[in-house]
Amino acid sequence: MTRDLSPAEQKVLAALTDRIDAIVELATVPELTATTVLDGPGPAPDYRAFQRRFALLGRRMREVRFVVREDLPDTTGANTVIADGPPPAVREVQLRPSLVGPGTRTLTARALTLVHELAHSLPEGLTHPVKDYAYRTGWAWGHLPAELARNNADTYAEAAALLVERGERAWGRYQVLGRLAAQRGQLAKRANLTTLGAALAWLDITVNRAWVRSNDCGGSPAQPSPRPGGTPPSGPSGSTRPACSRWRACWRPGGTSASGACAAVSSGSAPRTGPRWTGSSPTSTR
Ligand SMILES: [Zn+2]
Repeated sequence: MTRDLSPAEQKVLAALTDRIDAIVELATVPELTATTVLDGPGPAPDYRAFQRRFALLGRRMREVRFVVREDLPDTTGANTVIADGPPPAVREVQLRPSLVGPGTRTLTARALTLVHELAHSLPEGLTHPVKDYAYRTGWAWGHLPAELARNNADTYAEAAALLVERGERAWGRYQVLGRLAAQRGQLAKRANLTTLGAALAWLDITVNRAWVRSNDCGGSPAQPSPRPGGTPPSGPSGSTRPACSRWRACWRPGGTSASGACAAVSSGSAPRTGPRWTGSSPTSTR
């Protein structure tokens, strides 16, 4: 069940729009290149193409329709609904009440959630190319080849986080740190000794794609524990496709938290020198 935003919620959304505009302003090609978010294995990344998409986020913020959805799960900050075409079009972006209501999350943290969702809404030709392959909280982070990373929604959120951190001189404030990130980094450093990092990355991408596709079927997604979240299509069967159903600000075995209050046990972001992910690119539509 969705509803329109209240006047108070619309004020918060306006503030979020301003914050996203400020983030987009930071996103020059050199600044985005410095984030290294596309620097995975494989061919050289195209940061100009990345910047062209990133620059559209503010405009999309004004173009898409936002509604509040009270029953989104705790682990889901927002959900983009794309109606089947032809051509497919973004019908609405559903927001959890806490995203536009009072709460402890900072405006920037909320804006990062929207950056992820707005990336899904970017049209290119007759498609919306930005999907969910890897999450900042998962084993596959840093393993995506450049082209796939450019088509990955959380890549935009991570780039935004790093841009803001640099602007605020506050390294680590908006990155996703924690035990998994630290373990992922350690495995990347030992890539010449073990393929475990690559294996976990491949498994993570496979599970992510299966999880996303399961949502398209409606009902309860076949989500592997501990990956909660997910929402069924909100329209008639087959008429809508939720482009994204979760934002996991913090993920750890045994539970999740949307607070972003992960323990910062890593002294740095995961190295991007991990083993090459050799699996074929997912071919599904989101
Ligand atoms: Zn998503």
